[in-house]
Amino acid sequence: MKVLFLAAEAAPLAKVGGLADVAGELPRALGRLGCEVRVVMPFHASIDRASYPIEPRCELDVPRSGGGLRAELYALDLEGVHFWLIDGPPVRQVPGVYGNSEQDGAKFVFCDRAALLACEQLSWQPDLLHANDWHAAAAVNFLRAWRQDGGFWSDVRSLFTIHNLAYMGSEAARADYAVPEFELPDVPDWARHLPLPSGIASADWISTVSPAYAREIQTAEYGFGLEHLLSRRSASLTGIMNGIDPQRWDPAHDAALVRAYDIETLPARDENKQSLRDELGLPQDTSPLLAMVTRLDQQKGVDLALVALEMLLSEPWQFVLLGTGDPALEEQARRFAERHPQRARALLRFDEHAARRLYASGDLLLIPSRFEPCGLTQLIGMRYGSVPVVRGTGGLLDSVPDADLEAGGTGFVFQAPAAADLAGALGRALTAFRDLARWRAIQHAGMRRDSSWGKAASEYVELYRKLADA
Ligand code: ADP
Repeated sequence: MKVLFLAAEAAPLAKVGGLADVAGELPRALGRLGCEVRVVMPFHASIDRASYPIEPRCELDVPRSGGGLRAELYALDLEGVHFWLIDGPPVRQVPGVYGNSEQDGAKFVFCDRAALLACEQLSWQPDLLHANDWHAAAAVNFLRAWRQDGGFWSDVRSLFTIHNLAYMGSEAARADYAVPEFELPDVPDWARHLPLPSGIASADWISTVSPAYAREIQTAEYGFGLEHLLSRRSASLTGIMNGIDPQRWDPAHDAALVRAYDIETLPARDENKQSLRDELGLPQDTSPLLAMVTRLDQQKGVDLALVALEMLLSEPWQFVLLGTGDPALEEQARRFAERHPQRARALLRFDEHAARRLYASGDLLLIPSRFEPCGLTQLIGMRYGSVPVVRGTGGLLDSVPDADLEAGGTGFVFQAPAAADLAGALGRALTAFRDLARWRAIQHAGMRRDSSWGKAASEYVELYRKLADA
């Protein structure tokens, strides 16, 4: 099974959020099941070229109205994953992974078109196009149109995975590259020409990254206006829960930690908390450390967390937030930390090293998302013995059973996206924390959870086969 896997970001080359973890880890698991995968992504200007054995492979002439553009294709084998990196003028004009909407529209449509051209030029004919998020939607559109003409693409099937429905992409430059348009009668006017809905409409199959999110996006509450389109396609819509790579995320072998530990040596974990507290100037006391590692976006409910914590000022807690994004939320977090100098810190940056230390130091991990397609931080947190407090939505609902309701529960769950509800769940978690034997049982249950990619990869391969045989 040959799979052309398109994604905007892939760890460790370029990472902004969870998509990078998925694109960096899932292809390796697919490879173990016998798939030959090419992960294609832009050669982002932020990729550290000197750190990887990147080889030039070929040049491609990408057709475009007003003059074609030259793309350069580079190849890289990284820990068993074969990458194709695409460079060219629309890629170089963006300094990081993402730029403004116009730049991103041009960058990703150029890369989608170049990825398909590369397959033809290198005579590498995939069985399946696995396109991830809006950035890869144009490739699905081209495939759907070209298949009717027979030839190279006639037997290739497409799977379009939605990692986040909220980002529908930019239509900029789609006309320049003659991206085929499809009738989308059940989509609101404002969304009719956007990449994401058009990818959903033209893919052979659609998946999203948890079963609960696959159900939720068919409702008005979570559908962002695409609920009718998604409901119409519900017979071809599957939810496959993401995993994490247990080797990349392993507290027993994580160079970022001051003290390695595993389920047998859990008390040693506290050394990580002590060292972090020292470094951040937080008092060494018996209060639990509450952590948050997140993009700062309305989606993630950081504002709910800050209000909930102020409702619980009479309780002992310390809070460390690591996040970057929306300037208004950064400002709220900064002000919160200033108001509570004895118990709160806001680390407003993207810092993988600090993230790992927080997973290993936090007693609790707060994830009060308004919606959450899958969420990886709860999976990473559980693996590191941090107990998640989550809103019961999407992948959080699918992966965190409530310790007060279920034997073997691994966290605490609340339902409404409201600070008072979060405060209620946090209160229950703080009560459990005071009972060490109970707390250890919850940590152990989380650490034992098998979140590895094996199950998801098998489900993807089964789906690929079904599509290829159709
Ligand atoms: P999303 O993809 O919506 O951002 P996920 O929970 O799926 O959310 O994935 C988030 C990933 O990004 C995790 O690997 C998390 O550790 C990482 N991450 C988020 N914010 C930061 C940050 N400020 N510094 C380092 N890593 C971060």
